[in-house]
Amino acid sequence: MSEQVRFPKDAFLILVGPSGSGKTTFAHKHFRRTEVLSSDFCRALVSDDAGNQAVSGAAFELLYFIAAKRMRYRRRVVVDTTALRRSARNTLIKLAREYGYRPVAILFNVPLEECLRRQRYRRRAVPEEVVRRQYEQFQFALAEVYEEDFEGIYLYEDGELYTERPLPERPAPLSEEETENEKPQPAAGGP
Ligand code: ATP
Ligand code: MG
Repeated sequence: MSEQVRFPKDAFLILVGPSGSGKTTFAHKHFRRTEVLSSDFCRALVSDDAGNQAVSGAAFELLYFIAAKRMRYRRRVVVDTTALRRSARNTLIKLAREYGYRPVAILFNVPLEECLRRQRYRRRAVPEEVVRRQYEQFQFALAEVYEEDFEGIYLYEDGELYTERPLPERPAPLSEEETENEKPQPAAGGP
C-alpha cells in the first residue's frame, strides 16, 4: 500500500463510482488481491462470466458471505462494486457494523467523457448508455454519502486521494452508558 493510501484494518472500504472510474485499478494497485472483493469476480465464480448480470443476486450473496468470513478473521475488506445505490451501500454498511468494522467510502470522481473513453480500451466494455446512467446515479451518491453511516469519506480525483471526512485514528471511545453495559454481569444463580 502506498503512503498516500493507508487505512486501518477495521476500515471496511466501499469503492463508489461508475464503470470506468478506475475502482478495480485503484484496488489492485493498493491492496492485496485477496483483500478486494469484486462483484465481477463473484459473477465469474458462479457463472464463468464476469459480465453476466443475470447472476448478480447470487454474486452479491457470495460477496457478502466472503466479506463476513473475512471480518470474522479480522481481515481487511475492500468492496469493489459500483455501490451507486443507497440501498446497496446500506447493505454493506450494516454488514460492516455487524462485525465491528468502520464503513469508509471512497468516491471515484472522474468526468463522464473519461469513463466513456476508457471503455474503448477494455476487453469487456460496458455499453455507453449504462455508463451514462451510472454517472447520473453517481452524482446523487456524491451528495448522499454524507447522510449515510460512513465514518470516513474520501474522494479520488486525478490520481489523488482527498479526505472529505477523516476516519478517526481509533474507534470513538465507548459512551458511559455503553461502558456500563460492557461490565461483566454476575452469572445467573451465582453468589
Ligand atoms: P467497472 O465498474 O466497469 O469494473 P472500474 O471502475 O473498475 O470499472 P477500471 O477497470 O479500474 O474501472 O478501469 C477502466 C479502464 O480505465 C481500464 O482499462 C484501466 O486501465 C483504465 N484506467 C483506470 N484508472 C485509470 C487512470 N487513473 N488513468 C487512466 N486510465 C485508467
Ligand atoms: Mg471494476
